[in-house]
Amino acid sequence: MSERVGLVLCPEARIYDHGPGHPLRPDRVLLTWDLIHACELDALPNVARIPCEAADDVTIELVHTPEFVDATRRAGHGEDGDWARFGYGPGDNPIFDRMHEAGALVAGASVAAAQAVWSGDVEHAFNAAGGLHHAMPARASGFCVYDDPAVAIAWLLRAGAERIAYVDVDVHHGDGPQFIFYDEPRVLTISLHEYAPWFFPGTGGLSERGGRGAEGCAVNVPFPPFTGDEAWLDALRSIVPPLVRRFRPDVLVTQLGCDTHATDPLAQMQLTTRAYREAATILHDLAHDAAGGRWVATGGGGYQWARVVPRAWTLYFAEMAGAEPPDDLPEGWIEAAEFQLRGEVPTTFSEPALGPGEGDREARRIAAEVRAMNAIDGDAG
Ligand SMILES: [Zn+2]
Ligand SMILES: [Zn+2]
Repeated sequence: MSERVGLVLCPEARIYDHGPGHPLRPDRVLLTWDLIHACELDALPNVARIPCEAADDVTIELVHTPEFVDATRRAGHGEDGDWARFGYGPGDNPIFDRMHEAGALVAGASVAAAQAVWSGDVEHAFNAAGGLHHAMPARASGFCVYDDPAVAIAWLLRAGAERIAYVDVDVHHGDGPQFIFYDEPRVLTISLHEYAPWFFPGTGGLSERGGRGAEGCAVNVPFPPFTGDEAWLDALRSIVPPLVRRFRPDVLVTQLGCDTHATDPLAQMQLTTRAYREAATILHDLAHDAAGGRWVATGGGGYQWARVVPRAWTLYFAEMAGAEPPDDLPEGWIEAAEFQLRGEVPTTFSEPALGPGEGDREARRIAAEVRAMNAIDGDAG
């Protein structure tokens, strides 16, 4: 095992906290790092721990407007102002203490992952705290202050990368990176997500294909609710590798939201942890096959913060690190997680299969349409 893998650890990012009762609680990420540690994946000889540092304004402003950064800083320090104009207020994006500092740490952690990969220190790097893919240039959205995947991509372009492929498997459309790079032919964005008239953020339909000069550089796979493991994996396998291989990126950036899980409280997909294990293999193979091994991965959504998120992201990280943890979760971790949850957590990574989802037929039809629109041979992948 010669391949080096980076694990970005950023415990300071726990200040990214919208307050009690908000679904994006910091424990999701803290319990993930705890499980990675309990499985001794961070002690593997090929795993490097990467520290984080807040991104500076110049870096954040590769993506965000100075007015938005200024508003975020002032709102998070208790100043009064018209913060609603920037997306802040009651609901999804409440103003919280040190909001700018928190967002800058998350963005800095994704930049640290990008830097470690781009410099060649590691081949793959994972920032579990990242993946805040709804933030827009001048507006917070969907629990996201700064768009750390977009900042990392912009950082890579500035560092000299010629092409970046961004693959987003969160249950919500990756609208931030798609919008930010819509007219940018050097960035291919592919998002697989649940899509329904009432479902956040409402974008990500088949017709969104990239702006003038970048046609085909945005690809969307809009699944109906109740899509299950098999149809979701078949779409991922048959669409993402051929497109990314054709694009020949210097770096593969992935957002690994796991709010696609059947038990997630904010969405209606039907996935189990098997999908995450397989997706990890598909994306890992793809990074080597199409991007010279350079793979920057972030977390993302996932609101079963004790029962699902730590297992999902530990499975992804284990694949990156070339390790196969035992199926039984470590006892000590289970106890700690159950204490925090005040309820039971699953004791294994694997889960019983749920069988085909009610949405599978429609999901397969849409996947076929995406393949046809993008001239992908049906047997590819
Ligand atoms: Zn999400
Ligand atoms: Zn590898």
